[in-house]
Amino acid sequence: RKGNVVVTGASSGLGLATAKALAETGKWNVIMACRDFLKAERAAKAAGMSKDNYTVMHLNLASLESVRQFIKNFQYSGMPLDVLVCNAAVYFPTANEPTYTAEGFEMSVGVNHLGHFLLARELLEDLKNSDYPSKRLIIVGSITGNTNTLAGNVPPKANLGDLRGLAGGLNGLNGSTMIDGGQFDGAKAYKDSKVCNMLMMQEFHRRYHEDTGITFASLYPGCIATTGLFREHIPLFRLLFPPFQKYITKGFVSEDEAGKRLAQVVSDPSLTKSGVYWSWNKNSASFENQLSEEASDPEKARRVWELSEKLVGLA
Ligand code: NDP
Repeated sequence: RKGNVVVTGASSGLGLATAKALAETGKWNVIMACRDFLKAERAAKAAGMSKDNYTVMHLNLASLESVRQFIKNFQYSGMPLDVLVCNAAVYFPTANEPTYTAEGFEMSVGVNHLGHFLLARELLEDLKNSDYPSKRLIIVGSITGNTNTLAGNVPPKANLGDLRGLAGGLNGLNGSTMIDGGQFDGAKAYKDSKVCNMLMMQEFHRRYHEDTGITFASLYPGCIATTGLFREHIPLFRLLFPPFQKYITKGFVSEDEAGKRLAQVVSDPSLTKSGVYWSWNKNSASFENQLSEEASDPEKARRVWELSEKLVGLA
């Protein structure tokens, strides 16, 4: 049978390119989990994806209610779940004020981390029950959260601190909208959320890999300077960022190529190792990359896991 893969945020950028790459093999039914149903349908059509290879299902990660509804709809469809890809993200580098999810969490961490955390936790049982030969849970990470890299050292740096803001509910009512309890900073909030993504992948691995056989993985696909992720940035940045990445840092990767990389992590029989953060070298060969000290701290991972459980209503 075909594999069933759920990809969040498949209506543009990396998610769409991955959906396309998987659909083209004819071996996958891609469930495009998107907040804008019509946009996703149009994107799939424009990408030339055949109706036989994908299904669009509504998911708004900025609402835990919507996450729960998506899970119900997916389970009601009767499809087994073979691979889950947590890809969707928002980034507000120029915002002066925070925005909030339906539950009142700061939006970047709320969507990128908390929404995905609830989704992945609640779908773990479905993954476990699948009879697919290689079941995987993939959480897209980023270099920007890794302070052991050049890109990760561009200020403001990711730093979860002692997690006091997360413990306080991340809602600006009782404390701070930032995980470390500091002043709101949109660029930092995004980087912090990516650290959470990478920490959660490893915590899933520690808690569930041995018992379930599920492969847990994260990746940095390269700098895809052309995606909608930078839509909130100032125009000059949007103009100069792609050539800067192409010619100066040479980290630039096209959406197509990045989609192929993520599709590899979904389906390549040689990428079954669990607990790994994948990257690609200049020749587009995959290798196991090192995470920064903070992004690989098991004690921090455990605490983020437990505090997040409380915020999304799992504990
Ligand atoms: P895009 O902005 O193109 O894609 C993000 C996707 O997330 C869109 O489909 C968007 O939906 C969706 N999304 C946003 N908010 C929600 C929500 N509340 N509920 C459901 N879906 C939502 O950015 P990218 O493709 O660049 O980003 C994809 C992933 O890649 C992210 O995890 C990002 O951190 C990561 N990444 C990107 C890099 C880059 O250089 N671009 C580098 C490293 C990692 P809609 O289409 O409706 O806006």
